[in-house]
Amino acid sequence: MKVSSRERILEKLSTLDFDVLVIGGGVTGVGAALDAATRGLKVALIEANDFACGTSSRSSKLIHGGLRYLEQYDFKLVREALKERELMVGRTAPHLVSAVSFLFPLHERVKERGYVGAGLALYDALRGKEHVLPYHRHISSRKMREIAPDLRGDILKGGILYYDAQVDDARHTMTIARTAERFGAFVANQVEARSLLHDGNRVVGAKVYDRESGREFDIKSATTVLAAGIWNNKIQDASQVNHGYDIAMSKGVHIVLPKRAISLKTGVILKTALSVLFVIPWKDFWIVGTTDTPWTGSREEPLATREDVDYILEQANQVLLHPLKHSEIVSVYAGIRPLVAPAEASSTTKISREHVVDHPMQGLVSIAGGKYTTYRIMARDVIDVAASDLLRIVPKSCTEEIALLGADGYPALVNSLDALVTEHGISREVIVHLLSRYGAIFEEVLEATMLDASLLQPIETGLPYIRAEIRYAVTHEKALHISDVLMRRTRIALEVRDRGVAAARVAAQVMAPLLGWDSSKVEREISAYEELVAREFAAESAIVGVA
Ligand SMILES: Cc1cc2nc3c(=O)[nH]c(=O)nc-3n(C[C@H](O)[C@H](O)[C@H](O)COP(=O)(O)OP(=O)(O)OC[C@H]3O[C@@H](n4cnc5c(N)ncnc54)[C@H](O)[C@@H]3O)c2cc1C
Repeated sequence: MKVSSRERILEKLSTLDFDVLVIGGGVTGVGAALDAATRGLKVALIEANDFACGTSSRSSKLIHGGLRYLEQYDFKLVREALKERELMVGRTAPHLVSAVSFLFPLHERVKERGYVGAGLALYDALRGKEHVLPYHRHISSRKMREIAPDLRGDILKGGILYYDAQVDDARHTMTIARTAERFGAFVANQVEARSLLHDGNRVVGAKVYDRESGREFDIKSATTVLAAGIWNNKIQDASQVNHGYDIAMSKGVHIVLPKRAISLKTGVILKTALSVLFVIPWKDFWIVGTTDTPWTGSREEPLATREDVDYILEQANQVLLHPLKHSEIVSVYAGIRPLVAPAEASSTTKISREHVVDHPMQGLVSIAGGKYTTYRIMARDVIDVAASDLLRIVPKSCTEEIALLGADGYPALVNSLDALVTEHGISREVIVHLLSRYGAIFEEVLEATMLDASLLQPIETGLPYIRAEIRYAVTHEKALHISDVLMRRTRIALEVRDRGVAAARVAAQVMAPLLGWDSSKVEREISAYEELVAREFAAESAIVGVA
């Protein structure tokens, strides 16, 4: 997205009359924009900061039914989520959502195996007849030593292996936004809704602020969808609109470890006193988490504490032969769950993950809660209600049939991997990496390398990201700042100990000519990134011994 293209979009946002204005570019908001655009509605979406910069880049990155909701007898939620999981892996996003296996280790041979086995049989059954992921299977102690040598054989008596799916949440959210754009939506990041516009008892759009230029303008729309997650109430309060629910904030922390830190051939799920702990394979890393504690601090910068990390290590180390150490941690991240809560809620642990749609007045619908996995259902539900305000017949949601950008033809390209490696003359690792992040449109990323071969160089030694991805992030994916590139378009900030500080200069070099940055702007952008990382390190210095 060149600056000039952004200007064109802002011009449209300030002059057109829209059917639906979506506020918030997390997975719920971009999902709503795609749902509305594919029903033929005229759609605008604004994101105050960057796509997925809130909760949608800080999740466990699992597309799952939520095994633990079975224990809460929440079968509807589990069934719905499992259906979404199969849909994403099989049809709408096979390039971005892939199967991942989890071992459920057992401490006891008979009773626990029967109980967990029955639960997993139900979990498999609830997804219905059409399914892509394999069935669960029972694992003996001997087999467990083979696939999970780092699990303690003295206390564990085998386990059960089952399948869920995983996603790079930030990349997936951005891809939904791009897909919405392809169907005609006007989408802009760094545009913040300051207040809602009223015409009598009706909401008719929003007063917005372009954080890049400092300009304020109005976006006019017949309906407005508030999908700003944990920020929803803030926007409603600023416009004196009553909300039918409160949002409790629950913090979840994850740690990222190198693959060599744990010897496992599968992910692991561990039952804890309050919830579950996942050890999730993530490229050359493990993501381990999460916690679930009430949060009342900053929405923008949720911070991990020493207790959070100690808790994660303590839970994981109970079953690991070689205990994990603080010094092995590559990075730490924290996110906030938006849990729809009654005002008097004191603990967030038992609050359901199901979503609510609120319609407080004509022209305004808000949505909150839910899970990443069920974003499409949430989007459908909120647009159904928004459509009822449009006083005309609006087609039903069709996103079940809409493949995200890069999905069409992806399986054929995977089958032609060898030919692609030969054709492009680049390593298999990089081709696999590009396919898994861009799908069938990965050659768009490589286009610029025909003219400038230096763009084939890695951004960071040891990671498969190439410099052409920085360029593509700006030209096609609306990246405007270094943090957009290092924290969300790529996940370099999670995958290196300096959180991308060294890569920031490389990113700035590629971004500068595309965004018209002069040398002082380059230095300001690099400093802003370094300061952001420094704030994270300052908060975490008591936790991890990373420089
Ligand atoms: C630790 C953790 C682990 C999780 N793991 C999983 C998991 O494995 N699987 C799963 O299915 N779910 C998981 N979830 C839940 C899932 O991540 C969330 O349900 C989902 O990301 C919420 O998305 P959202 O779009 O509603 O909110 P957000 O992603 O927070 O998006 C809201 C957006 O609104 C923007 N915004 C705010 N104010 C304004 C404004 N004034 N104008 C314009 N934009 C504004 C924000 O910048 C933000 O980008 C997890 C959550 C957490 C915290």
